[in-house]
Amino acid sequence: MNSPSDCTILHVDADGFFAGVEQALNPALRGRPVVTGAERGIIAAASYEAKALGIKRGLQLHEARALYPDLAVLPSDYETYSLYSQRLFSILRRFTPNVEEYSIDEAFADLQGCDKLLGCAQERVAEKLRDAVRTEMGLTVSVGISLTKTLAKLCSKFRKPDGQTVLRREHLPIMLRRTPIDKVWGIGPASAAKLLARGITTAHAFTLMEAASVIKLLHKPGYETWLELQGRQVFKLELNPKTEYASMMKGHTFSPPSAEQHLVFAEALKNMAAALAKLRRHRHLAREIGLCLRAQDYTAQAAAATLPALTAHDSEAAPLLRQLFDRLFVPAQNYRSTMVWLGGLVPVSGCQMDLFQNTPPRRLLGHLDQAVDRLNLRYGQNTVAPAALMDQQLKPWHPRDAAPERFRQTYRGERLRHLAIPRMTLSNPV
Ligand SMILES: [Mg+2]
Repeated sequence: MNSPSDCTILHVDADGFFAGVEQALNPALRGRPVVTGAERGIIAAASYEAKALGIKRGLQLHEARALYPDLAVLPSDYETYSLYSQRLFSILRRFTPNVEEYSIDEAFADLQGCDKLLGCAQERVAEKLRDAVRTEMGLTVSVGISLTKTLAKLCSKFRKPDGQTVLRREHLPIMLRRTPIDKVWGIGPASAAKLLARGITTAHAFTLMEAASVIKLLHKPGYETWLELQGRQVFKLELNPKTEYASMMKGHTFSPPSAEQHLVFAEALKNMAAALAKLRRHRHLAREIGLCLRAQDYTAQAAAATLPALTAHDSEAAPLLRQLFDRLFVPAQNYRSTMVWLGGLVPVSGCQMDLFQNTPPRRLLGHLDQAVDRLNLRYGQNTVAPAALMDQQLKPWHPRDAAPERFRQTYRGERLRHLAIPRMTLSNPV
């Protein structure tokens, strides 16, 4: 049971990732409370210095500033974060090719065979990984290694930031006793409430339940988590990037909120164009379109409709978007964001195009979309866009519109929407 080779699932999680990247890029920010999300007025990420002051993700900026007026507040720079993310995953792939990119700053890896390859124990693998990320990227990450994905994720959280935990089978009960049930990956608030109502407060108490009662109470997903917590692998690593999608959405918050109908519609249309471009990039067609308008007081109205045919063309979806918009828009209401959702997706390859739908005009629309996508990819998003998008210029400039610093100093060959060169700064000498 105690074979050292069954403890092979690694989870790595960057510490306060977006804020950490900003600190890695700008030495003046290191050691200071830093948050990102200036463009939305809500904190997207907080550095550990900010977290120590009680400032965390989801807090409104004015609330955070009340806690610490000298807070460094930065606009999100997702292009740069994505480059750092790729770099983090490429460092992980030096240890093993078996890597699942779970989110922008989290990955799972299977180290099976890795200890022999590297000639060291799991602890040393975790140290080497953390050292490489720290010296090459100026970031800290936390690493967990255990028998299953669920346990590895528990371990990476155990000593955060800049920590590592290897959990072997013989120490499972110690860790599980210290883990509140609602901190287990896969146990959401509803499941946690059901377990708490039965007096199950820790992961350990949960693993002691009878299998039949777990299935009855939490069904298959809960049962799978129950197995994983006991060190029995159920969740496999997803090694191939996703190729099929059920839905896609694009949303954007704008400041200041606006009651200007043309402007709010232009925002919705921009999101629709971005969602359709993504749909075409991933070679899918949509059957449904949905729109959500969020008012200044955070109440939201949403509606959806079925498209006349499976489509990825702007000109076929736009009239329906207009109808949804006219149904939802309330004059004199101030809006802060719009979100467009595409559903009922079908991959182009698996789609039987109706003979009557594959008409010459529709084929021309396809050529038009391709040409527009190529231009926008080359010269930046919305270089070619519907004329109604010009109504976006109705929006007055707001401090939240300030672009990330990195966009003001692009390298040759880079475009604002396409940063290609990771700017890395070495961490402070230890
Ligand atoms: Mg993280």
